[in-house]
Order: sequence, then C-alpha cells, then structure tokens
Amino acid sequence: MVAETKYYDILGVSPSATESELKKAYRKLALKYHPDKVGTKQNPDAGDKFKEISHAYEILSDAEKREVYDQYGEEGLNGQGGMGGMNAEDLFSQLFGGGGGFFGGGGGRRGPQGPRRGKDMMHQLKVTLEDLYLGKTSKLALQKNVLCSKCEGKGGKEGAVQSCRGCNGQGVRIMMRQMGPMIQQVQQACPECRGTGEVINEKDRCKQCLGKKIISDRKILEVRIERGMRDGQKITFSGEGDQAPGVVPGDIIIALDEKPHPRFTRKGDDLVYEAKIDLLTALAGGQFAIPHLDDRVLMVSVLPGEAIQPDMIKVIPNEGMPMHRIESRGHLFVKFTVEFPQSNWTDEDTIKKLEAILPPRPTLPSFGSKHVDDVVLVDAEGYQGRNNASHSAYNEDDDEDDHHGGPGVQCAQQ
Ligand SMILES: [Zn+2]
Ligand SMILES: [Zn+2]
Repeated sequence: MVAETKYYDILGVSPSATESELKKAYRKLALKYHPDKVGTKQNPDAGDKFKEISHAYEILSDAEKREVYDQYGEEGLNGQGGMGGMNAEDLFSQLFGGGGGFFGGGGGRRGPQGPRRGKDMMHQLKVTLEDLYLGKTSKLALQKNVLCSKCEGKGGKEGAVQSCRGCNGQGVRIMMRQMGPMIQQVQQACPECRGTGEVINEKDRCKQCLGKKIISDRKILEVRIERGMRDGQKITFSGEGDQAPGVVPGDIIIALDEKPHPRFTRKGDDLVYEAKIDLLTALAGGQFAIPHLDDRVLMVSVLPGEAIQPDMIKVIPNEGMPMHRIESRGHLFVKFTVEFPQSNWTDEDTIKKLEAILPPRPTLPSFGSKHVDDVVLVDAEGYQGRNNASHSAYNEDDDEDDHHGGPGVQCAQQ
C-alpha cells in the first residue's frame, strides 16, 4: 500500500515498478516530451510535462525518497513537492549523458547512473615462499564499515529520517557572497544537516549506530593462496569493501607480498640456490643436500671429474616453483661456491702428489728484453683502505659474489 500514486501515474507505471521499469518509462516519456525534440508550437505544454515527468522520476528513482513518498505521499517529501530539487534538464542530462548527447546518437560518456560505487580497499598479505610453493589458505582479519543491522542502514525508526528542509535533501546550499562589485555563488555544506541531506529526530535515532547508519565490524577473510602465485599478485573479494547507504560496496583487494627466503631466490617460476661445496667434492665428486620448500631433501650428486668451478651454474630440471594453474614446474638453478682449503693446509709430499695428479702448470711466457723482478704475495689484510683507490678496487672484486645468477639464470626467466 502506498499513500498516493500521482508520481507513478505520471510515469504510467504501477507502484510496484522496479528501478529499471521506472527508468524505461521515464526515458520513453522524457524523449517524447523533451523540449528540444518537440516543436513547442504543436505542443506548447511539452516543457511543463517534461518537468513533471522528470520530477516524478527524480523522486521515485531515489530509493530513500521513494520510500518516504510511498509512506507519506508528496507532503512527506518536506517541501520537495515543488520543483525544489534537481533541475529537470540537469536530471535528464545526468541520466542520458550530457546535453543532447542522447539525441545525437549517444556519446561514449555514461552519466552517474545508478548508485555510487564505494572505494576499493587494498591490503598487503605477507607470504612465505613455502606458502606460494605449497598453496595455503590464510585468514585475514580486518575492520570494515557495514550497514547497521538494527536500523537496516536507515539511521532510525521507520519514517524517523526526514529529508532536510534547509537544503531540500541535497546536503549543500548555494550561498551568494558579495565580492566587491561581484556577487559570487558559493556552494556550502548545509549547516542544518551537516551535509548529509537529512535529519533524524533525536529520540528516534538508532541506538546501535547513533544515526550514522553504519558501524565498524571485524571481518575475517579466507584468502586462498594458490600454488605458484607470485609476489604482487592480487586476489579480489568483490563487493566486500566498506558498506554505506546507497553505495555499492567496492572490492577488497589482497596483494601478495613475498618474504625473502633464507635459501632460495625466486626468478619467476625458477628458483636459485647457492650451494657451497668443498674442493674435493668439486674435483672428485660427492654429494650435497638441498632442503626443498616442501618436506623433501634433494640429495645432489656431483659426478667424479665434473670439476665444478666457483660461480658455475647448473640446473636441476623441474624442481623450481609450481606454475600457477598450469601442471608444470620451473627449474632449480644451483650456483656454486667452492670452498678451498685454508692456507698452509698440507705438506710438501702431498703437494708433490697433487703435481702428479692435476693438469700441469702452464709454461710462463717469455718477456724478451724486459726486466723481470721477482716478488711474493702477502696477505691483503692491513693493506686495504690505505688509500681510496686500492680500497674501492678491493671492494669491487668482493661485490661480484653478491650478484645473483649469471647469464644462464637470466636466460631461463620467463
Ligand atoms: Zn542503526
Ligand atoms: Zn540540509
């Protein structure tokens, strides 16, 4: 039951019409009676009719105003019964996208039709490489605004919310200000309703939200981290953003933030592991272990005679990251550091044996007539930093160990 049906009659719809039925009816009538379209000679009342249609639609297309109208009729709209609110032409262009755009075949711009959309909320979720390797469901607690359940987002008892008389429910007032000889129009938040466009009787105000219509609520999101997801990848929870009256909530977007791993460096779907092996294993073969990201340990064999060199890069195929939503895996690159024995590690006899085993020393080139000085090496410690040039040279050499991956690793990306 509605208090009166005048506005519905003007649009030629029933009081149970849906939003889209209302819009369709308005569109049809507005096109028929739009002053630009109809020659005013044949139809001198078209302008008034257009205003009437637009006003009826303005009220009925606003869920809050429609509710007030259904309950109390035109009178309930608080002085909005006149042409107080939006200008008919403004409403038309807002709905159909700008002056004449509709008649001209429609520009691309869509007016602010329908309810406003709320902001998206972005959250970072720190994840370990293990989580991204194995997949995981993480619970994330966050605070968000929800419509008050007690008053259903109305702010008070049924009918307690009234459109503000001071601003006709617009929330803003146009003030005239004298600036010397000029009169300036200034838009100002309505002081009576503090810019909200409505007033609620103190005693009818909702006790739970104190008339604010929304309350803060703790929300637990279950974030499904899928195998092979990447750093920075976004997981979207549609419509889970802050709620507000008359606003379509935005999304909550979770961006994954991969924590650095103590053993592995990730390069896309590949992993890089820095293996430290001893000289004997490098030359004569042996084994070393790589604890993987699941509960496996890869026992890696170095073949005898393989002669692993410092900074050499080898690959264990298909032991990298699982690919996201693809039944395939990246590779595991192993970058070697070879640990040499300490100074003075052995005796002359052993060195003689080594000379018999290892490939012979290269013969020294001849320098012809050049003077040759014999020199020996001493420990560099105590010599570094004696002047800037030698200091930086020393550091440059040192830095090379910190670069991850050689050309082989870079080629394997993507
Ligand atoms: Zn409430
Ligand atoms: Zn106001």
